Amino acid sequence: MKNITVIGSGTMGNGIAHAFAQSNYNVNLVDISDAALTKAIATITKNLDRQVQKGTITEETKNSTLKNITTYTDISNGSSNADLVVEAASENIDIKLKIFKQLDEVCPPHTILASNTSSISITQIAAVTERADKVIGMHFMNPVPVMKLVEIIRGYSTTDDVCNLIMETSKSLNKIPVEVNDFPGFVANKILMPMINEAIITLNEGVAGVEEIDTVMKLGMAHPMGPLQLADFIGLDVCLNILRVLQDGFGNPKYAPCPLLVNMVTAGNLGVKSGKGFYDYSSGTKDLVLAERFRKK
Ligand code: NAD
Repeated sequence: MKNITVIGSGTMGNGIAHAFAQSNYNVNLVDISDAALTKAIATITKNLDRQVQKGTITEETKNSTLKNITTYTDISNGSSNADLVVEAASENIDIKLKIFKQLDEVCPPHTILASNTSSISITQIAAVTERADKVIGMHFMNPVPVMKLVEIIRGYSTTDDVCNLIMETSKSLNKIPVEVNDFPGFVANKILMPMINEAIITLNEGVAGVEEIDTVMKLGMAHPMGPLQLADFIGLDVCLNILRVLQDGFGNPKYAPCPLLVNMVTAGNLGVKSGKGFYDYSSGTKDLVLAERFRKK
């Protein structure tokens, strides 16, 4: 493993490129959008600067990390020498299937193809390639440079050798990989999303307010962030999509999204990224401010 291609340079792609480049891999960062690539390099530089200020890396490491990253807008150019591709493009099944079909054609036969998908079946992605044995999930957590966990998802046909190699590669990034099987939501979201949904149901039923629910879970269960604040951080649209994947995948009504969540997404209240969810982020302060709708009258 020396040459890594990261497809998609958004929130997750730039973090994944950062993590590999800092561990001395050559990284080709690919995006269809030039603007996204420019933004990604600016974000990586800013995050490296913060690490230098904190004293966790040296100025030399910052410079060598940036030197290890080359950007591309053409997937063929960016993938032709890859030992491993980590796809972190938008969470859309059609986009992902198209990318994996193309990767299968342009990558050398030995290349392992990984997806950072939060919820799409690795087995389904693998089925559009001629190398299902070398397709695997590498589910990094946000923000990637900080979070230790990588959920490693074995597709139905992923071999032991490929799985072991990806576990070792994750450890070389100073991460802690955990192997799981390919079922809707994997482990992280199969457990997290019903908890978030239950918190929204609890709010909707009037059992308690937003701050009360978050405080109970923070102080009572030692969660660093309450479930409603976490939902805002993840994006309410993302939470809704994952709940639908769980509901469809298991055919079990227990995963049905709370109507309040559906309404909030339909109204464009998506959490941090839209400025408003359960909390209001429009003031730009770090203090949590309740969204007006959820304030006590
Ligand atoms: P994002 O919207 O921030 O970035 C996606 C990027 O993919 C964009 O820059 C877009 O231009 C690019 N893209 C779209 N189609 C492309 C193509 N055909 N080729 C190359 N680039 C393309 O999304 P994100 O939040 O970084 O999520 C990326 C993946 O990571 C998704 O599968 C998501 O489910 C998963 N994920 C996200 C999080 C999170 O907290 N955001 C956490 C874990 C996993």
